Amino acid sequence: MSSNFQSHINNSIDYIIVGQGLAGSAVAMRLIEAGKSILVIDQPSKNRSSAIAAGLFNPITGKLMTKTWLADLLFPELHQFYTNAEQYLDGRFYFPHTIYRPFISIEEQNEWMGKSENAAIAGYIEAIYLNSNYGHQVHDPYGGIVLKQCGYLDTNVFLEKVRTKLDSTNSFLNESFDEDSLIITDENVQYKNFTASKIIFCTGIAQLKSRLVSGVPLRPLKGETLLIQIAENPEQIYNRGVFIVSAAGKNQFRVGSTYESRELTESITEAGRKELQQKLDDLLVLPYQLVGQDWGIRPTSPDRKPMLGVLPTMENVVIFNGLGTKGVSLAPYFSKQLVAWLLGSSKLQPEVNISRFKSLSSKFREAV
Ligand SMILES: Cc1cc2nc3c(=O)[nH]c(=O)nc-3n(C[C@H](O)[C@H](O)[C@H](O)COP(=O)(O)OP(=O)(O)OC[C@H]3O[C@@H](n4cnc5c(N)ncnc54)[C@H](O)[C@@H]3O)c2cc1C
Repeated sequence: MSSNFQSHINNSIDYIIVGQGLAGSAVAMRLIEAGKSILVIDQPSKNRSSAIAAGLFNPITGKLMTKTWLADLLFPELHQFYTNAEQYLDGRFYFPHTIYRPFISIEEQNEWMGKSENAAIAGYIEAIYLNSNYGHQVHDPYGGIVLKQCGYLDTNVFLEKVRTKLDSTNSFLNESFDEDSLIITDENVQYKNFTASKIIFCTGIAQLKSRLVSGVPLRPLKGETLLIQIAENPEQIYNRGVFIVSAAGKNQFRVGSTYESRELTESITEAGRKELQQKLDDLLVLPYQLVGQDWGIRPTSPDRKPMLGVLPTMENVVIFNGLGTKGVSLAPYFSKQLVAWLLGSSKLQPEVNISRFKSLSSKFREAV
């Protein structure tokens, strides 16, 4: 990425970004690349979704294992974005790797033999095994499928590197954003002693607590993960019922996740541990030791698509949220789209524009 960033000596900047999870980090990188001056405000919480995420990206997902929405656009973009980011930020956090998914029946095996003929999916398949190939590590009596263009992002290292870069240009404020200190005029926004043309909220699930932007229909989806230690290194990222992905720490792996939309207690649960351990035992042959458990809340949207755009009643207030279960793969593509739109060079896709939520304008008028 180019480093034509200009410091905001007189506190007059182009954009204020609130929140430095995957969404805020990606937008910050795009704006820096475009030569814009920014201020990022974040008070990181241990359980923010981006820090809990296993960081997996996988173009073939879901119970039915179908090609994920816009995969052919999202995956080349994420590859380019994180590869460039590693260079620009001088860090190692992007790990392309194949994923192995064991089959659970002969029927599934046959189904995948058929599907693999489909040109739209073939580009994501590395190999299909009709007999056990990783039986020394996982249960795969019917073989399995090896998927490519997958891998994981070490989200904590990525967030830390972005933060260090922002710090080095005095572009980061570690504080809780105080909405009462925000003044919005037709021309600009003012926050304490900073003036910017627009403010971009990338606050994840915290947006639900906002007085200003509370009308956005975010749906919280809690997830829990386990941290396990395995003496022998898994040869693949295994994924069946749960995934097993390398985590920070020697021989440590993250196992996840649960999906809970009703019981949103801000803590780990016994039920979460049991569910994950049961699924892990169904998958993993290797002995393991449980060393930790985590929880986080994903910011999802009613139609599972991101939310981008400007508030109907406040032209200078922008939202980038709703990354849901796929922040790692959605953030690069949609941060690019958001910034291109901010700079006036393209439009937002109607499916992701927050204007699709018709109830939005009246709720915002009430809120202001
Ligand atoms: C258990 C679990 C596993 C997951 N696994 C994956 C995975 O494998 N792959 C994948 O792609 N996605 C995964 N996700 C989803 C992914 O984490 C989200 O899509 C993504 O992190 C959302 O990023 P965000 O920046 O929108 O939100 P967040 O990560 O919540 O970031 C919001 C930021 O805003 C800050 N903030 C909010 N309000 C304020 C305020 N008033 N003042 C200052 N700062 C504020 C917060 O501190 C935070 O840093 C997982 C999520 C969970 C919970």
